[in-house]
Parts: sequence; C-alpha cells; structure tokens
Amino acid sequence: MDVFDYAEHFIMKLARAYPPTRPLQVELHPGLHCDLYRCPFCYGHGQAPLAGKLITRGDVARILDDLEGIDPLIHMAGVTTEPLTHPAAAEIVTEIRRRGFRFALHTKGYRLDDRCAHALLEGTSECFVTISMDAVTNDQYMRLHNIPSEHRDGHRGLRGRDYYDIVKKNVRRLHALKLASGSSLQVRIAMLLFEENCDEEQLDRAVSEYSDFCDLIRFAVPQVRNDGVRPTNVPAEAESLLQRLAARFAGSPKVRVLERTAATLRDTGFNRCEAQRFQVVIDRCGNVFPCPQVAVEQYAWLCYGNVKATPLRVILNSAARLERFDWDVTTQMRCRVCDRKDEAINVMLDRLHRAFDAVSPHHTPR
Ligand code: SF4
Repeated sequence: MDVFDYAEHFIMKLARAYPPTRPLQVELHPGLHCDLYRCPFCYGHGQAPLAGKLITRGDVARILDDLEGIDPLIHMAGVTTEPLTHPAAAEIVTEIRRRGFRFALHTKGYRLDDRCAHALLEGTSECFVTISMDAVTNDQYMRLHNIPSEHRDGHRGLRGRDYYDIVKKNVRRLHALKLASGSSLQVRIAMLLFEENCDEEQLDRAVSEYSDFCDLIRFAVPQVRNDGVRPTNVPAEAESLLQRLAARFAGSPKVRVLERTAATLRDTGFNRCEAQRFQVVIDRCGNVFPCPQVAVEQYAWLCYGNVKATPLRVILNSAARLERFDWDVTTQMRCRVCDRKDEAINVMLDRLHRAFDAVSPHHTPR
C-alpha cells in the first residue's frame, strides 16, 4: 500500500523550487581570534580560517547591497574565532542594523562593549544576541573555557581571571540599555552542559542570577567537534539530563532546554547537502562557503568565491556554487561535519526525496 503524505510532499516541492539566489541565512565569520579563550569543545578546534586580506565594513556594505529585497537572517558568529575580535566589529553591526536586516549575533560577550551595545540597539528589525556563558562561577568559567587565569590579552591587557565579571557586566549593560530604550532586542544566555556545571542546584542558581539580565537561558549539550573529538567532560546520560531539566524548568518563561542535543554520532544516511541551498557563510577574508562548519582552511576546496573579487549576487548564482548541490557528501564534498540545524535539514530532505521517488513513477529521481 502506498502512503502519500501531502504535507511532506508540499515541503519537498517548496525546497526543490526555492531559488538558491535567495539565501534564508547569510552568516558572517569576521573574527580574527578568540582572545584568551581556548575552549576544548570549540567546534572548529585547532582549525584555522583561510589566510588573506581582512574583510572591511565596505565589503560588508556591498554584501548587504546584494541582499536588498531578499530578507535573509544575517548571522554573525564564528566556527573557530570570536566574531567581535574584528577591529571594525561595532561598525559592521551598525551597517547591518541600520539597513533593517534581521540579525543574530553569537558571542562570548567579552568584547560586547558600549559601542557594540549601541550598534545592536539601532533599528527595529528582529535581533537577538546569544552569549555563551556555560558557567556559574569565575573558576568554572575559566576551567570550562580553558582561560589562563594570569595571562593578559592583547585587547585591553586584562587577565583571564577578569573575563567572567566583564562578560556579566557587558550583558547587564546591554540588557539595561535594551529595557531603557524599549528595543525588542532579545538577549539570550547559552549554557552548554558539562559534568561540573550540570547539577540541578547550580543550574537553579544560574537561572536565578542570569534571569535578571537576559530574556532567555538556553541549555544544551555541546555537539561533536569538527575533528570528531567529543569533550571528555560531557555529562553521562546527557539526554535524560536534558529531559529532567525540561521538566524542572517547564513553567519558567525564560528557560529553554534543547532536548535531543546529546547524540554522539553524525548521520551518514544522506549523500547530498541540501542545507547549502538555503545559506552561505562568509569568512573574515570574504571567502564564501556552503555552511558554517566548513569555513576553515581544512575544507578549502568547498570555498566557491570571494566577495572582494566577485559580487555576492554573482557568487550565489555561479556554476561553482550550484554544481556542489549535486556533489556526493562522502566522496566529493568530503565534509559531513554538519551542525545540528544543517544535519536536520539534510536528513529530512533526504527522507522526503526518497519517499517521493518511491511513489512517483514519472518523477526523475535525484
Ligand atoms: S558539513 Fe554538512 S552542511 Fe556543511 S557542507 Fe558538508 S554536508 Fe553540507
């Protein structure tokens, strides 16, 4: 008996018909380094971005010119660097915000200074900032992020032991400014769970303290690093921990628990990367990649253009980009290090394509 699911068929047709020149998300990785952070769970741990000339505010302005009328979410983050270490980070944020793009910033928060805070508060479009906190005390913060306590950084000459308090001060200021200005900016605190920070008493304390200066606290388990190494201090029975936390904080409007984030293995069932149709990632030198996880030297063959040499609108429609849609993930892309979102997209669309191919005799299978 054939079972035909209209809703899934509709989603699949939408995905196939969606024009790849209209990305849903454009991610910028402008960061140069990570100050004193050496997080052992960093997804791009030990992987350097491609070398080259740094992207400027003018380059970002030209990227945004090419995205006028498309309305992608502009995401500023990094797979192996902190985005706010770019020398013109606040100006780049201003450029994005004043043009009314929807915007998301993912940062450690150490450089979330007054200029960045005011840049974020420009404009009225949807905007959220996620600060990776992960800890509830200064010692724990330094240990989890592998920050040397007495080293001074090259930014303000501050010591590692000062970082936690500065981050909290920065987040407090941003939240206070948001409240004072009536901005709809969302301030979110991310808490990755490790053996030493996951007892429920500590997490209650974190929720109680951080709720005062954020709009949402998000608990999740760190995903596997690009090099396949899983941090040794991930909690045992992580999925049941997430379920317990979901039940514990069920009534809390400021807490979200990302259940089903404890999987230890990557999916190997799909052989085409569908996720790349809906996004591009631009690194600190303007190189354009299909997803955030591969925007490093290690996957240089997946780069299909540079916005300093070619306008983004041309790159989006280039043969170099479009041919990768048909590349086999294992033998040609040679990546399979998808983040959770992209893996979910790839797994779902692969399943829908197979189901549709099975019931549609006149359809040409992929
Ligand atoms: S890692 Fe995953 S999402 Fe990224 S390019 Fe490869 S298959 Fe696509």
